[in-house]
Amino acid sequence: MKTEKPGKKTKRAKTKAPAATPRGQPAATPRGQPPPPRGQDVFEGLGVSPGIAIGPAHLRDGGDVQVIERRIAKREAEGELKRFRDAIAQSLRQVAKLKNKAKTFHGTAAEELGYLLDAHAHMLKSRSLVGGIEKNIQERLCNAEAAVMDEIGGIARNFAEMDDAYLRLRGQEVREVGLRIVRNLTKASFSSFDRLDPGSIVIAEEVTPADTALMDPRIVGGFACAIGGAEGHTAIMARSLGLPAVLGVGALIGGVRNGDIVIIDGSNGVVVINPTAACRSGYERRRKVLARETQALSRLRNVEPVTRDGIRVTLQANLELPREIGQAVAAGAEGIGLLRTEFLFMNRDDLPGEDEQTAALSEIIEAMPGRPVTVRTLDIGGEKLTSSLGAHFTETSNPALGLRAIRLSLKEPKLLETQLAAMLRAGAKGNLRILLPMISAVAEVKEVRKILAKVAARLKRRGVRIADPLPPLGVMIEIPGAALTADALAQAADFFAIGSNDLTMYTLAIDRGEESVAHLYNPLHPSVLRLMQFAIEAALRARIPVSICGEIAGDVRFTALNLGLGVRELSMGANALPRIKSRILNLDMQAATQRAQMIMDQHDTGRIAALLDDFNDVS
Ligand code: PEP
Ligand code: MG
Repeated sequence: MKTEKPGKKTKRAKTKAPAATPRGQPAATPRGQPPPPRGQDVFEGLGVSPGIAIGPAHLRDGGDVQVIERRIAKREAEGELKRFRDAIAQSLRQVAKLKNKAKTFHGTAAEELGYLLDAHAHMLKSRSLVGGIEKNIQERLCNAEAAVMDEIGGIARNFAEMDDAYLRLRGQEVREVGLRIVRNLTKASFSSFDRLDPGSIVIAEEVTPADTALMDPRIVGGFACAIGGAEGHTAIMARSLGLPAVLGVGALIGGVRNGDIVIIDGSNGVVVINPTAACRSGYERRRKVLARETQALSRLRNVEPVTRDGIRVTLQANLELPREIGQAVAAGAEGIGLLRTEFLFMNRDDLPGEDEQTAALSEIIEAMPGRPVTVRTLDIGGEKLTSSLGAHFTETSNPALGLRAIRLSLKEPKLLETQLAAMLRAGAKGNLRILLPMISAVAEVKEVRKILAKVAARLKRRGVRIADPLPPLGVMIEIPGAALTADALAQAADFFAIGSNDLTMYTLAIDRGEESVAHLYNPLHPSVLRLMQFAIEAALRARIPVSICGEIAGDVRFTALNLGLGVRELSMGANALPRIKSRILNLDMQAATQRAQMIMDQHDTGRIAALLDDFNDVS
């Protein structure tokens, strides 16, 4: 998307080497002139998924969209108007988000982009544009996409005929606004990335977890976005797919063209556009070193994770998508510690039925013969929205605190019953455990147990084979209130899985997916550690299994601390597993326990980090 404003020049950040990484500004190309030769740009963001990718840029939000005009019956007009109004609301939300991001730019770039986005928001609210499109739908009786393109086309043509260069540009902006509405109408994000050139780097304003689920690592090399935080699900999904990714790179808005060569350094949060030959070969060398390291770690596949002083640890995998199962097996995972079932609901407008869910779960269970597969009930809401559930959500001012996860499941018992039935049926084929997300009270666990018993009785009456005995029912400890009542929850649940991602977010009141507060997100904050310790001790006292399945389980920096706090079971993205195993093989549990005790006596996050890092440096 171009972001130019006539009469003013926006500067592009130029650097010679990746070491200097100024937050750049969007680049501008005067209209009507051939693009100038482009030099290297280096932009900084949040490195959320390690590794290096080099390839041609594919601008997800760039280019035209294909619109097919469709006649509609008069009675369909209301529905079409609603779709259009929803798309307008979504467009306004996107523009507001981008505007927030633009504020972080330096100097005039913030101002310029701010003006532009204000203009876009203004158009999205303007009676003449919105009213014109609505009239078009009602009078011409056509689909909303065609009505938008028709109206926008007319306005843009009028501007294009003007002599004044500034006004001509307004025409381009109207087109951009129109394309945004149409993309939101056609849910262009559903379109797969399969037709890209292999190794392409996806550049976008924002990539949702559902978009990421459509990326095939054999085709997409990596991605970078203007928006997004390190612990959001897009980041988690990128890590599990092994796709190098950098988020929160505001300067990408307008700073990249289709086909530009892009380097994504997901380890250091750097994006290089059109690298110099020297820069590119430096990154290619680093990529080879990383590949050699991965190769060396893969030899640990069949080695048992035992500490130097003989303590056995269990390492399991988190699964975002069924297709990661092969990777989990290859990494030597001893089971699935967290299967996020959101994938079943993504990129579709309808809900998956019981048979479909049973088949998907069975496939995973069969790939892990005899090993535990921990299936979590739907954890949707907050940042994880899906269109198939659109009807179940109303706009709330604070979705992370709203109708999310188990709250939605208990409010929509049909949704939960279908999931539980599928779990019980798939559980007949192996070792399945059921995990409940966002539990905040014992009453919720008791309620689910009742529903589970009812669903089991119904299936038995129908003669359907189900897991017998009923699968263990565990809870995520990811809300501070749950951690603080862990002793009571340990009596109601069969196991705990500590979700440090949400536990950190809710304890510190930091949105895990929001880059502007990403620097404050810290699982080493003593409050988070104390809540974890409280929950772990409650589980150990009640003699129920306790694992950690948040992102700290797959981060070697935390391994000594996690184990030192008494946890013996870690679940993580399969890509992280070999490295964690290697850390465990070099770890002395007694020393780790002592260091964890020392850390738990501290109240200063900096001191905690220093104690942990010093320990990691010497052991
Ligand atoms: C967590 O919150 O730590 C967790 C594992 O769940 P999710 O990341 O899916 O919210
Ligand atoms: Mg969570």
